[in-house]
Amino acid sequence: MSIDLASQYRIPLATRIRLADQSTRETQGWEKEQAKKRTTENIAKIDELQYRLFVEQKRALLIVLQAPDAAGKDGLIRRVLGQMNPQGTRVHSFKVPTEIERAHDFLWRIHANAPAKGEVAIFNRSHYEDVLVVRVHQLVPEAIWQRRFEHINAFERMLSDAGTEIVKIMLHISPREQLERFKERLEMPEKHWKLSEGDYRERDLWPKYEAAFEDAIALCNAEHAPWYIVPSDRNWFRDLVVSEIVLATLQRIDPQLPPVTADLKAIKKLLEREEREQKD
Ligand code: ATP
Repeated sequence: MSIDLASQYRIPLATRIRLADQSTRETQGWEKEQAKKRTTENIAKIDELQYRLFVEQKRALLIVLQAPDAAGKDGLIRRVLGQMNPQGTRVHSFKVPTEIERAHDFLWRIHANAPAKGEVAIFNRSHYEDVLVVRVHQLVPEAIWQRRFEHINAFERMLSDAGTEIVKIMLHISPREQLERFKERLEMPEKHWKLSEGDYRERDLWPKYEAAFEDAIALCNAEHAPWYIVPSDRNWFRDLVVSEIVLATLQRIDPQLPPVTADLKAIKKLLEREEREQKD
């Protein structure tokens, strides 16, 4: 069993990975029940550290989630990331840009949702869509999206300089597992709303998405904004690895409770006097 799952899935800097070479199914010897237990423990520790981050009000955490359809962003948010205190945590889902969003630069809507000091922001999709779906569907000319890697790097550097810790996580599933999940959705009426012909059509573009992800990960991977690729064919292992990544990141931030400014002895005395008076 691995001791440090988080660093195992961190992509080394200046490295070009081939997604096809990255496992989607491995579990590093973990069993399901044991992994679930550890995830629950991690969530409790994450919650404690997020509380400290919130009261410290000095740093922020941005968690970027990118994934092919059905890789489980929603489940991950529900079961792991969404367990943090809503006071101080925000989830933002980036959809097809609205008219007003399109009238601005691509980072405008992203920056507006970046976390303030003390906050954790979870991006369900992100500015990376602007070099993924936009590239694959040729929504802007190549000369435009090519320059975005540079823009993204400068933007993330700026957020980091301003005190935001950034982690970027790609949930990696196999085309076969995706097909299984689509099939499952067809059989579950409560999941029918999630189905769209478009998602099926996107499957034909799988190699193009892979190339786009590989570029984005190679070109926008930095010490202050690292990429992680998480095997996600098994939900419980995906949840475990992401909880390890977030926990390790919060431990690195090491947020501190603010110093005590009140005169605790004086407060204690007042309290004791009131208690005595009540007894009399
Ligand atoms: P989920 O993110 O939970 O899988 P979904 O697939 O149901 O959501 P939608 O509600 O359709 O998603 O919205 C997300 C869609 O918006 C995706 O198809 C995504 O590719 C698209 N999108 C996000 N950002 C951009 C962008 N900058 N340009 C074009 N399309 C984008």
